[in-house]
Amino acid sequence: MYDVKGNLHQVLADLPQGVRLVAISKYHPNEYIEAAYEEGQRIFGESHEQELRQKVETLPKDIQWHFIGHLQTNKVKYIAPYITMIEAVDSLKLLKEIDKQAAKNERVIDVLLELHIAEEETKYGLTSEACRQLLADGAWRELRHVRICGLMMMASYVDDEAQIRSEFRIAKDLFDEVKSKYFVDEPSFCERSWGMSHDYKIAVEEGSTMVRIGTTIFGPRIY
Ligand SMILES: *Cc1c(COP(=O)(O)O)cnc(C)c1O
Repeated sequence: MYDVKGNLHQVLADLPQGVRLVAISKYHPNEYIEAAYEEGQRIFGESHEQELRQKVETLPKDIQWHFIGHLQTNKVKYIAPYITMIEAVDSLKLLKEIDKQAAKNERVIDVLLELHIAEEETKYGLTSEACRQLLADGAWRELRHVRICGLMMMASYVDDEAQIRSEFRIAKDLFDEVKSKYFVDEPSFCERSWGMSHDYKIAVEEGSTMVRIGTTIFGPRIY
């Protein structure tokens, strides 16, 4: 098997204090997750509801699962009982559904708002303007069972380090802006989830608090 333990320790050695690792285990088997778990890793990220459900049923109960993929509203009910954080919220509709399902489970679910800053075409993520509008609109304030803990984004998948860096800076500036406008009295609004296998070193230099790393730890995914 891939040297999961060795790779995990190398990644952890690269992370400054205050930056947490979400080990992205999608498409990887349980034995890989168990290897990382044995080394003390507790936060794992998955992007498909069914795959996550199977893993949750068979893996240790103290794993903190982050949902990092695009989440359809009709799938929220399945993960609401146990999910630790939903990282990629990009609409008020989804936020409301999470709130509803969290209420049914008598809990509060932590979420991040997903930004779309990269140049690549994707239908997911809020533009900076859409993020500002969602927060200015204020409907989110009525939602008692979701807690917005920060922002998440993916930089463009390019080799140009300057471009990646500038996208992280745009995200950090937006974080600072909305923090001061809406969350100044909320210490829980503190997460900046950026940085993946190919760009996490740049991301931590640009203020990431949470990196999402799969390939560097677990090897290439077999789809
Ligand atoms: C798959 C995925 C990652 C991890 O990507 P790697 O390049 O394997 O590190 C991080 N974030 C999101 C949203 C993902 O879908």
